[in-house]
Amino acid sequence: NAPLAEIDPEIQAVLDGELARQRDFLEMIASENFVPRAVLEAVGSVLTNKYAEGYPGRRYYGGCEVVDVAESLAIERAKSLFGAEYANVQPHSGASANAAVLHAIARPGDTLLGLSLDHGGHLTHGMKLNFSGRLYNIVAYGVDPETSRIDLDEVRRLAREHRPKVIIAGWSAYPRQLDFAAWREIADEVDAKLWVDMAHFAGLVAAGLHPNPVPHAHVVSSTVHKTIGGPRSGFILTNDADTAKKLDTGVFPGQQGGPLMHVIAAKATAFKLAATPEFRDRQERTVRGAKLLAERLLQPDVAGAGITLRSGGTDVHLVLVDLRDAAINGKEAEDRLHDVGITVNRNAVPGDPRPPMVTSGLRIGTPALATRGFGDAEFTEVADIIALALQPDPDLDSLRGRVRTLTNAFPLYPGLGAATTE
Ligand code: PLP
Repeated sequence: NAPLAEIDPEIQAVLDGELARQRDFLEMIASENFVPRAVLEAVGSVLTNKYAEGYPGRRYYGGCEVVDVAESLAIERAKSLFGAEYANVQPHSGASANAAVLHAIARPGDTLLGLSLDHGGHLTHGMKLNFSGRLYNIVAYGVDPETSRIDLDEVRRLAREHRPKVIIAGWSAYPRQLDFAAWREIADEVDAKLWVDMAHFAGLVAAGLHPNPVPHAHVVSSTVHKTIGGPRSGFILTNDADTAKKLDTGVFPGQQGGPLMHVIAAKATAFKLAATPEFRDRQERTVRGAKLLAERLLQPDVAGAGITLRSGGTDVHLVLVDLRDAAINGKEAEDRLHDVGITVNRNAVPGDPRPPMVTSGLRIGTPALATRGFGDAEFTEVADIIALALQPDPDLDSLRGRVRTLTNAFPLYPGLGAATTE
């Protein structure tokens, strides 16, 4: 029963180092967040010891009466948060949730219509090296080259031409909201199932700041760790009893064996927190922060450096920076921001002239900083730091100092771990 620091000092050093890194940098990777301490506690709990194949009340193992409570709470809270009739909270990740969705509503060889990866789609929406691209016949739609928005007329045209079994709405890198009623009309017209992957914007939906796909889609999948800010994992919702049964089979035994009961307990806690006014306030700060960032990056000094925003702004928690006409490429921009203390990820733009390891874009998100406590004043300051950092010959020392002022003013996980920011 010796502590980690004694048993494995090398791994303890990793934990300390990562805590210090999270404290000392401004986290702006759009898919990341900071879980509350309550969620850390549940994830680091003895529930990790328990096998519980099956579902609450119908398990293939004994001794599940306690963990059943956690899973039932997670299910009920997910249903109530998103207004769904059925929820499966067992997926280990967003990708395994998506694999279970396809297991439930399609057969290998069926045609799927999804947003292509280089236009902002996810690997599991049909990328050729992913299971989705290998098992299914993929037809991809993209964003309009002029507006950088998804053109529903084009989606409808492709749907009529290819008669897909499944139409996938949802994205990993797209700064606008989707009109799910319009998507459902297209799906109904060609007799396809509409699957919405709300992994990125689920937190905004829970807070009422983004249309809810649940009333319109046949199936909705999500992660818990992005805007929701819960443990790394996934879940699936539907309003249809028959689809719900297929989804349960799709998850177990279709994709997974034993569920991660410690993570499921943490999901229950995350869903509980997502129903509070504090959560809504955080999501509001998230969206406002992204808008403030967009406004700053549209100013003449930034535009003069050849930097633009894809789709000209944002309605969600992220902005997509287009560097095709800038002196700096995606890799250099990511490194430059890292150098001043801001973590983002480079991102290909559609038809990117540069290779995937370099790219001509950046994806910058606000969820983690909103969780850290940032409001309008701090997001205005961060936006200015980024705007100056991306232009030629920035004063890096001064920008580093401004980042340090912000990280010091908003301590992360106070009292946790041995690491300090001193
Ligand atoms: N779906 C979308 C839209 C995503 O953006 C992601 C993650 O980036 C996933 C699914 C997969 O989630 P995970 O990384 O947990 O497998």
